[in-house]
Amino acid sequence: MELRLYDTLSREKRTFVPLDPKNVRMYVCGPTVYDFAHIGNARPVIVFDVLFRLLRHLYGEAHVKYVRNITDVDDKINDRAVRDFPGLPLNEAIRKVTEQTGEQFHADVDALGCLRPSVEPRATEHIGEMREIIERLVKGGFAYVAEDHVLFSPQAMNAANSTLPRYGALSKRSLDEMIAGARVDVAPYKRDATDFVLWKPSKPGEPSWPSPAGIKAEGRPGWHVECSAMAWKHLGEHFDIHGGGIDLVFPHHENEVAQTCCAFHRERMANYWMHNGFLQVESEKMSKSLGNFITIHELLADWPGEVLRLNMLKTHYRSPIDWTMKSLEESAKTLDDWYRVAADVAPGEPAASVVEPLIDDLNTPLAIAAMHGLRGGDVGALAGSLRLLGFLSESVAQWEDRKQQASGVDPKEVEGLIAERTAARSRKDFKESDRIRDLLAAMGVAIKDSKDGTTWEFSR
Ligand code: AMP
Ligand code: ZN
Repeated sequence: MELRLYDTLSREKRTFVPLDPKNVRMYVCGPTVYDFAHIGNARPVIVFDVLFRLLRHLYGEAHVKYVRNITDVDDKINDRAVRDFPGLPLNEAIRKVTEQTGEQFHADVDALGCLRPSVEPRATEHIGEMREIIERLVKGGFAYVAEDHVLFSPQAMNAANSTLPRYGALSKRSLDEMIAGARVDVAPYKRDATDFVLWKPSKPGEPSWPSPAGIKAEGRPGWHVECSAMAWKHLGEHFDIHGGGIDLVFPHHENEVAQTCCAFHRERMANYWMHNGFLQVESEKMSKSLGNFITIHELLADWPGEVLRLNMLKTHYRSPIDWTMKSLEESAKTLDDWYRVAADVAPGEPAASVVEPLIDDLNTPLAIAAMHGLRGGDVGALAGSLRLLGFLSESVAQWEDRKQQASGVDPKEVEGLIAERTAARSRKDFKESDRIRDLLAAMGVAIKDSKDGTTWEFSR
């Protein structure tokens, strides 16, 4: 069985050949921890969790290393710290923000059925590696110091007569066009408009570290160099897969490649660049101003995490997702059915009809269709396939419990309403009995009358 992955750099699906099958290495850009993660942020986390699980299935659990960083130095974090903890010294306030947000992120993605990565490095713990990369870039003539900043020069990179990749190759942009289209208000310390920051001075009170390249004032790293440093430390100069959302291709990943390849004189940083498509909500771009900004945390109050996971995987990872209530309701029904049929049976090997689409560039919609096909037949294979995809982490009883908690419906209240409805029906007050049925439906409770009485279940 051959795994094929779509690579953003070569713009084609290619057979995956790991550099070392005993140590398959993947890096995915993680969250900047300053606020609750939204459901769009959940997409790369879920998608690359599926890939992590699939790689473990193919190469063995001990032979896959997955690194997802935590960005804990950023202007947005500083702003939040000032706003939320005005009484505290900034550094302490920042620690509170990053700790709380980091914990919340873990709680959210655990609930989505995602395995923790092998390593979750924090940017602030890798300043030494960042300084080292920056020093190498300055020595190599790819970066320069100006007004206590260190800047990377894409033009120096492309002028170098070597086997380095071209700057712009990943995002398919030409440097000449970037220069022509550059904004007019370029920072005065930049030699060229396309130069980007590797290191910058910290304002008083902001987190700061001793600077590289002979700069006296303390400073802090730029965002792009953080990922180059953490990937290098934990995966080496050259590794297998680098992932993230499609919005990160430019400038973030283009700059990561530039930094890593120039610092280590490499032709490549990662052999496969994978990017998930964007998520929108009810056909609109998610934004705070439109009021359709939904956090994972909010969704988890209404839905079990595995429902959100299934809903995400119904769309292929490279396509855009339209996140709708209707689709969530369908996902909840499907999963409910699968839980009843497969949660308490001994899991067999995942079905070939499920694994085959998965190894074809993570075709989860096709894998899910195949699981529908298994439902009436080989439920052992269905159970094994669901587990491979990160479902059925609970017993049926726990699942029922969770649904009930998520629905916020108290079973005693439901029983009480059903008794009232039965009484209304026996006195032929059908207006009242219909009212109660509608009320229950609005609570997400479906009822069924039979000669033995009325039974009920959560309809979502
Ligand atoms: P950010 O916190 O914006 O840096 O995003 C963290 C991760 O979530 C990155 O991999 C982004 O590409 C991804 N991401 C952010 N917004 C969305 C969205 N609406 N749909 C899919 N992925 C997203
Ligand atoms: Zn990154």
